[in-house]
Amino acid sequence: MPRKVCSFCGRAEKDVNFLITGLNGFICDNCAQQAYQIVCEAGLGPGGKGKCKSKFDVAMSDVPKPMEIKDYLDQYIIGQDEAKKYLSVAVYNHYKRLQQPQDDNGVEIEKSNIIMVGSTGTGKTLLARTIAKLLKVPFTIVDATVFTEAGYVGEDVESILSRLLQVADYDVAAAERGIVFIDEIDKIARKADNPSITRDVSGEGVQQGLLKLLEGTMVNVPPKGGRKHPDQDYIHVDTRNILFICGGAFDGIERKIAQRMNTHVVGFNSVQNVRHIDKGNLMKYILPQDLKSFGLIPEIIGRLPVLTYLNPLDREALRRILVEPKNSIIKQYEKLFEMDGIKLHFNDDTLEFIVDKGVEYKLGARGLRSIVEAIVMDAMFEVPSKKVDEFTVTLDYAKKQLEKSNLRN
Ligand code: ADP
Repeated sequence: MPRKVCSFCGRAEKDVNFLITGLNGFICDNCAQQAYQIVCEAGLGPGGKGKCKSKFDVAMSDVPKPMEIKDYLDQYIIGQDEAKKYLSVAVYNHYKRLQQPQDDNGVEIEKSNIIMVGSTGTGKTLLARTIAKLLKVPFTIVDATVFTEAGYVGEDVESILSRLLQVADYDVAAAERGIVFIDEIDKIARKADNPSITRDVSGEGVQQGLLKLLEGTMVNVPPKGGRKHPDQDYIHVDTRNILFICGGAFDGIERKIAQRMNTHVVGFNSVQNVRHIDKGNLMKYILPQDLKSFGLIPEIIGRLPVLTYLNPLDREALRRILVEPKNSIIKQYEKLFEMDGIKLHFNDDTLEFIVDKGVEYKLGARGLRSIVEAIVMDAMFEVPSKKVDEFTVTLDYAKKQLEKSNLRN
């Protein structure tokens, strides 16, 4: 057998990741990859037509159907059926658009970016994160609060694309088919009470920047994120096929909805036309014009044609969130104890108590975790050193622990 070096580049075994052994020689991982590229460029690769198959190339037959996507979301997210349905369809249609041949009898499917409106802590980000696990296109979540108009301190909107490129391993073609979730889109709304003498750097300017991306344009992206520099070589990214999903709490938008509905209702003379209005959840009546009253520019709204909402979480939903999802808060703590060989158990009345406190502290589902954490903190500290194989959180214990904690203040 010859010496253990790559027969192509001559590198020794210690200088490469690994060597593949052949009959009369070796090839290192690096040369194998280059050889693969050459095969692909010759049009003989699995991607066909001279293209190597990227991990982001998927056949339509591998794409989960909208109902399957929703079933998957159901495992992790309680309720919010409406938003789940809209998201599932949007993602599925996104795949369809990507599969559409260039010249399809003139019928070009346009993309349908989405906007999700719902109070904080109702599951918008969770929805986005969960769907990301299922997707086979590059996906990134960005926070709109960091953006400022180009030239000001903060990030330019283009930085969204740097992140997408990163997750796509700088495969530009893959990034151009990706999905971006823009969280806290409401934070870039124009402030109505700011009749701009100076420019509204975090408001309308950013919306204008974002609009370009949503519309579909060629954007010059600085290669490794960061700010633009005149000497840098840019990567050109076409945003035409990127799907944008936006989410925001739009605090106070219910007032705008109520105002609109009131004027609307007054306009009717006939009583039978007045629908029953669910005053506890005005969000479900949201229309694009409410987003406009809130301060989004009409052009942006026009580019987000699918508008959906998330319901506020009631007591019942909070109780389910505590125990039902695949990685519910309670299941996570049970796991932590299980790793020490201890069975953790919460009594039913303890769970009710946690939900009551959750409602009282008005932190939504987000508050549940801090409450459970405060209750089991001492146990997590002490129990691993004790010789016990189970630990039950009784109502009395929970009350005592929560009182001791500073969560109340
Ligand atoms: P938002 O983005 O709407 O402000 P998040 O998605 O960040 O809210 O929710 C915060 C946390 O609350 C999540 O990590 C999750 O643990 C929990 N949560 C919120 N809504 C739900 C829900 N509908 N189902 C399950 N868990 C939820």
